[in-house]
Amino acid sequence: MDDKQKARLKSLPKVDEVLAVLEKRGALARAPRGKVLEAIRQVVDEIRSAVLSGAWAEDRTLTSESAAEAVTARIERLRAYSLRRVINATGIILHTNLGRAPLCREALERIVEVSRGYSNLEFDLAAGRRGLRYDHVREILCELTGAEDALVVNNNAAAVLLVLSSLARGREAVVSRGELIEIGGEFRIPEVMERSGAILREVGATNRTHLSDYERAIGENTALIMKVHTSNFRIVGFTEEVPVPDLVALGSRRGIPVMNDLGSGCFLRLERYGLQREPTVAEAVKEGADVITFSGDKLLGGPQAGVIVGRKDLLEAIKRNPLNRALRIDKLTLAALEATARLYLNEQDAVAGLRSLTALTEPVEAAARRAGRLMRMLKREALPGVTLALRKGSSLSGGGSLPTQQIPTVLVALRSEGLSAARIDEKLRALPVPVVARISGDEVLFDPRTLSAEELSELRGALRAVLAPGGGG
Ligand SMILES: *Cc1c(COP(=O)(O)O)cnc(C)c1O
Repeated sequence: MDDKQKARLKSLPKVDEVLAVLEKRGALARAPRGKVLEAIRQVVDEIRSAVLSGAWAEDRTLTSESAAEAVTARIERLRAYSLRRVINATGIILHTNLGRAPLCREALERIVEVSRGYSNLEFDLAAGRRGLRYDHVREILCELTGAEDALVVNNNAAAVLLVLSSLARGREAVVSRGELIEIGGEFRIPEVMERSGAILREVGATNRTHLSDYERAIGENTALIMKVHTSNFRIVGFTEEVPVPDLVALGSRRGIPVMNDLGSGCFLRLERYGLQREPTVAEAVKEGADVITFSGDKLLGGPQAGVIVGRKDLLEAIKRNPLNRALRIDKLTLAALEATARLYLNEQDAVAGLRSLTALTEPVEAAARRAGRLMRMLKREALPGVTLALRKGSSLSGGGSLPTQQIPTVLVALRSEGLSAARIDEKLRALPVPVVARISGDEVLFDPRTLSAEELSELRGALRAVLAPGGGG
């Protein structure tokens, strides 16, 4: 240890000195004293280790004041919520890591109204006795999809597990090798099937499966024919898959139900908005599959949920499965799902009210206008050493939907002389309302397609905080 280090260690702030500074400032008056003392000790320990290891910079001062600031910051971090709103500037509309679909105003209102007191969640008000929670959305889902019956659970992975367990446990479910997909996380069709107790009977090849493959695989032990929408990838080139109506015809000849896992669950005719065609749930119902499953928070644009629609007798069997209780939907989700579904009674209301649908269907000119607005707002800030440019680019649908759809957009590209793109990105993510952006080379890119008008202003404030002199960055 050299003399400088010795001197530094001697002048280390004392716990009661730091406490006195905090008390004088009136900071942390509401924090428990034990927690404050613990935080002070930790901060002083960290300074001591930094001095001993030589990591303490020569010119940094060692005062009770700066230690008090570090203690305040530490306690505020502990107090802050972990799950928070973020600003999604990535242009990935259904970003699974950022919570997929933002909820519409009606859904938020219903969550507050239904959950601030008691509700008729499982109470039949007319009869004055126990009711079923799914009944709150059964009619509207049947109306929108044309299905006979509907049931909702925690998410679509749960829906698939529940259907397989109810209809094919201990027996075989026939699936094409081209549809044994992984959704991300731990959701893979073969593994979900194993957990459900159904026996996977794979048929065909990765790129081509024929009706005769299914025909040959069906035997005494077949319980289900399963079709899986390859939502998050596409096989192109020398390919063949069997259309659902052919599977339905085969199923009814042999007395075997057909399940269709749609994944996304789209209620809109996307081709009308210049996007790729995606089968809607109503179309899938018309094709005749006996049971159809889809997500609530992908293209539907609602809360995380799994929807099962289809034949009444099969859905009754599914409802009776004890797993259904374990996978059941909660009341907040149900309130939000009912409100989201009702918006679809008028397609324009759905497109205007659901942020994910607005973002998906909005013409590039609208995105370009917001990019221009953001650019002008940022130029007015005159951030030092910062250059801004508009670039053509694409947004993505995300959430395992429309994987090959390029959605044209205009990006605002920012470059700083003083800070690397990675450093700016890191600082943006550390803000009280974090901003998640894209990085490309030495530029940070902001995609206005996933930014609301209000968020554009928030983004301006965020960049000021990170890049303006004395802006706290
Ligand atoms: C996304 C998806 C699932 C899983 O749905 P979650 O809502 O994420 O649980 C299942 N099957 C398919 C085909 C999917 O695309």
